[in-house]
Amino acid sequence: MRYLLCFCILFVPILVMSAEPTTPAAHPIAIVIHGGAGTIGRKDMTPEMDAQYRAALKQALEAGYAVLKSGGRSLDAVQAAIRVMEDDPLFNAGKGSVFDHDGKNEMDAAIMDGVTLKAGAVAGVQHIKNPIDLARLVMDKTPHVLLIGAGAEEFARSQGMSMMPASYFYTQRRWDELQKALKEEKTGGPSASAEQYPGTTARGYGTVGAVALDRRGELAAGTSTGGLTNKYYGRVGDSPIIGAGTYANDTTCGVSGTGTGEYFIRLDAAKTISDLMLYKGMPLAEAADQVIMHDLVQLGGMDTGGAIAMDKDGDIAMPFNTEGMYRAYIDTAGHEVVKIYRDE
Ligand code: ASP
Repeated sequence: MRYLLCFCILFVPILVMSAEPTTPAAHPIAIVIHGGAGTIGRKDMTPEMDAQYRAALKQALEAGYAVLKSGGRSLDAVQAAIRVMEDDPLFNAGKGSVFDHDGKNEMDAAIMDGVTLKAGAVAGVQHIKNPIDLARLVMDKTPHVLLIGAGAEEFARSQGMSMMPASYFYTQRRWDELQKALKEEKTGGPSASAEQYPGTTARGYGTVGAVALDRRGELAAGTSTGGLTNKYYGRVGDSPIIGAGTYANDTTCGVSGTGTGEYFIRLDAAKTISDLMLYKGMPLAEAADQVIMHDLVQLGGMDTGGAIAMDKDGDIAMPFNTEGMYRAYIDTAGHEVVKIYRDE
């Protein structure tokens, strides 16, 4: 009996301790989102619109952050934040997407996992309520990275996704923007340009994106968009092109871009930011500035776009060469920030 008592006193606590579940290392968490870059000046916004955008950004940001706070994966946080903005007609993604030259909505989206470098993307989908969810399914359920148009939608159906009628995506504001662009195309107005022929490409601001860092220290990035107003049928922008508008790599950073996609594709903008960190040892802010404020401006001029980026330590960069960019973040210290204009 005495031996049994000694055994219990000595070994039971050890056994109990080693049986305790190992809690995952609590890496600091952070999230950054954007709702598009463009000519967004104080003079272009009413106080009501300003408040609406800020509230929408806050809602999306907090949806993503809630996932991170409860120990969820950065991929899920990115998806949760983007889904909120896709459902909000204020943004050019999901409901409220801009119209192409033929008056149709064609949406693009991508998501990337910084740990495995796995990625999923869709382009030119017309009936998917949340294109970011379909991009995630492409990543998780297929050996492919990018599915387009009818094939992407057939895959969505096979996964049990319900299809939305075209009318779901319609908003009067985006329709009016198309009519304006079509008129300018005929009269040679501001959005008509020989370089962009055929179909002028007035930017319909409001592409959305997110980058998140979770408790495991893992990064993920995603982007979703309706593209450019009056774009040619079948045109694909940078958002679903891995390395152009979307990229994530745990050794460097996660990036989501917004702007005239053609320039982002030609520069491989998102991956170049990562490469500058990887191969040149540049800090995040410097690498992001180099691509957005220098390379992009040199290739396409001012007003070509912006990006959000976050490195593995949770440092955040949000450069843009446009007048404004809808943007928001919650940093590793838990500070929440929402901004629109350049001067704030
Ligand atoms: N980058 C998007 C595209 O070119 C549009 C945008 O971000 O405003 O499709």
